Amino acid sequence: MTRLIFLGPPGAGKGTQAQTLAQYRNIPHISTGDILRGAMQAQSHLGIKAQSYVDRGELVPDQLIQDMVEDRLSQPDTKVGWILDGFPRTVSQARFLDDLLQFVQHSVRVINLEVPDEVLIDRLLARGRQDDTPEVIRRRLEVYREQTEPLINFYRDRHQLLSVNGNQLLSEVTGELEKVITF
Ligand code: ADP
Repeated sequence: MTRLIFLGPPGAGKGTQAQTLAQYRNIPHISTGDILRGAMQAQSHLGIKAQSYVDRGELVPDQLIQDMVEDRLSQPDTKVGWILDGFPRTVSQARFLDDLLQFVQHSVRVINLEVPDEVLIDRLLARGRQDDTPEVIRRRLEVYREQTEPLINFYRDRHQLLSVNGNQLLSEVTGELEKVITF
């Protein structure tokens, strides 16, 4: 059963690769960023609460995201496996996920997509999403270093981490992913 977490800084290509792989394996691709953008567009309760954080490049409060992920992972389509993209992003979110998954958490593998900072900034500026302004990008990278990067060691210590070079052609990254994901 494929249960994967995509980790990596903003602009690393998590979304693209996660989506490709999910399609290929016929499992849901669960992107917290996509869910939030949908909620913000729909101006739902969650979207309205999340908006100011996303616009500033800050993380949305753990509780909001955790409720959202718990709800999504309780849906029947996730029974065949899943790819989580953008969650967990803090150590406390990772602990929450451990508790949520209980006995299957040891079967989760974590993909760390590695890309140098200067490449990330170029990619994000080229993408031009609403939260891709230079100032917000800088903040998102800072938040990544402070809060999300510690998860690399967290999962490495537990032998769940697989690193992939994200600084290659999209198809080459996909190829490398297929090679390391042998389950
Ligand atoms: P990126 O492409 O920069 O990795 P995402 O599309 O994954 O961005 O997320 C966009 C924004 O949504 C983040 O900057 C953050 O504000 C919010 N967000 C997404 N996932 C999480 C999470 N797990 N915890 C807190 N905030 C989140």
